[in-house]
Amino acid sequence: HKLYPVQVNTVLQRAFEIFSQQLKLRQIEISWNLETALPHIQADPDRLEQVFINLLINARDAIETRHASAPEKAEKRITLASRFADDQVQVCITDSGIGIAPGDRDKIFEPFYTTKEVGKGTGLGLSISYGIIQECGGRITVFSHGPGHGATFSLHFPPHPTSA
Ligand code: ADP
Ligand code: MG
Repeated sequence: HKLYPVQVNTVLQRAFEIFSQQLKLRQIEISWNLETALPHIQADPDRLEQVFINLLINARDAIETRHASAPEKAEKRITLASRFADDQVQVCITDSGIGIAPGDRDKIFEPFYTTKEVGKGTGLGLSISYGIIQECGGRITVFSHGPGHGATFSLHFPPHPTSA
């Protein structure tokens, strides 16, 4: 895949627009925390948009699952953040969903690993996303404070060599 200089904020906003009806329907709130004037990264913008949509789908599902089991205390919020730090363009997608058990953290990027009911998940979203981010020279990691406490997916990209 050919890589282009890409503004991560623009792609994030486009993914959000495609997904916004989903969030409205479920009354999931969005918080933005984008740093302006980020360096470009090197990416295929359409594939990167697919990564962000995958992460938003997972965040929505995690929030819905938590809400189904504990509606009284389940805040429904996704936070989208970007910044430039340690010579990397960083994107964080944080949700208030069910969170990830420590034992699952290493498995979720494997193809076909899913904790969703049959027919609801393919288990491919994160493994495909992992590959796309690697094509950009980047990496993806996940933090969770454990079951019931949400999750943060953190993406790090090197700046595009000609725009750094
Ligand atoms: P799928 O969504 O089809 O299950 P993915 O590869 O996108 O496949 O995700 C794999 C698994 O990782 C999910 O089934 C779920 O267990 C876990 N996961 C992914 N994102 C989140 C999240 N935001 N919160 C909690 N668990 C998650
Ligand atoms: Mg998924």
